[in-house]
Amino acid sequence: MGWLPLVGLGNNQLLRSSNAPLNFQAVRRDFFKELGVRTFINAAGTYTSMTGSLMPKKVVDAISYGSTQYVDLDELQDKVGERIAELLDCEYATVTSGCFGAMSIAMAGLMTGMDQKKVVQLPNTDGMPNQVIIQKSHDIGYKQALTNVGAEIVVIETADQLERAISRKTALLWFLNANTHLGQIKWQQWVDLGKKHQIPTLNDCAADVPPVENLFRFQKMGFDLITFSGGKGLRGPQSAGLLFGKKKYIDAARLHTPPRGQTIGRGMKVNKEEILGMLVALEEYLQTDHQRQWDLWEQQIELIKKSADSVLGVSTQYHVPPHANHVPSLKISWDQSKVNISPNHFRQELKKGHPSIETVGNDDYLGITSWMMVPGQERIVAYRIKELLNTYSI
Ligand SMILES: *Cc1c(COP(=O)(O)O)cnc(C)c1O
Repeated sequence: MGWLPLVGLGNNQLLRSSNAPLNFQAVRRDFFKELGVRTFINAAGTYTSMTGSLMPKKVVDAISYGSTQYVDLDELQDKVGERIAELLDCEYATVTSGCFGAMSIAMAGLMTGMDQKKVVQLPNTDGMPNQVIIQKSHDIGYKQALTNVGAEIVVIETADQLERAISRKTALLWFLNANTHLGQIKWQQWVDLGKKHQIPTLNDCAADVPPVENLFRFQKMGFDLITFSGGKGLRGPQSAGLLFGKKKYIDAARLHTPPRGQTIGRGMKVNKEEILGMLVALEEYLQTDHQRQWDLWEQQIELIKKSADSVLGVSTQYHVPPHANHVPSLKISWDQSKVNISPNHFRQELKKGHPSIETVGNDDYLGITSWMMVPGQERIVAYRIKELLNTYSI
């Protein structure tokens, strides 16, 4: 322990006088440096492996506040759930352990209802409806959130197949918002089929703000449950998420969460700090000037685009994904007879450099978004990309 106070304290004055972003002033020890963990500029986006997003100071303040006193966990969830439901104009809400956790507890609740005997029985689903119908194009890895608690996936492609797949075993019609454009059945038809057969519908909207309207649209449309990640576009705690919609289903989902111990969701704990952090992140997001934010992101991408375009043999493409991660994005590619490096190798070089820069892409292109950067970092990214392209120019 003796060595700890020595680390970083000497730099404190220096840190305080800088105009560094976010919560930098509160950091007395340089933990990442101390641990030998490299930090980086996030030009990639909201990735769990990259620790998601950076929380606004008000969110961190709420988390700090929460850490100072005891409250009853259920009472706090009740009150925050009501507040979030008011903000989102729906029946009820609860703060979950990420979007994945939201889906797991929702699924558990849909299978057991309010039956306490069934609650302790999971993941054994004998005697419960346990099938989830999913479109083939929506059938991605995150369905594990549903199968983890005992559900079975039934894959369909057409509305006709969906109607024929419905039985007494059907517990949920699950929709993946990110892949809306790939499926034959779109939102309203999905909801209508659910209503026709009295099967609840859930829309996984993990990465679906912006646009802010997505926080309101799907409950209006008739989805019974909606899930969001807390630590993606909402910039709340990365370990939190939202489940909102119909109260009866959320009440059943809550039966599977802490403090109740004999449940499948006991490990998906959120405590008062994350609950308050999530509430404040949502409040802050709803108050954001979204147009201004969008304009900034576009300008940042434009700057990086121009910088890359100035190198011979390089081509760039501005694009905005239609659903999920719907933000100004850039693809940079080049003629490898003019710039002699593969995009994947280029990405490794950006990561190894000083400062380290994380990007996305594959062996065809280098992908950039600016929304998770600290404003100003786009200049460094623009400079480094051009510098590195020039280094490999023939
Ligand atoms: C990120 C993501 C999840 C998981 O969200 P967490 O908040 O990290 O638990 C689930 N579904 C989709 C489509 C996602 O993009």
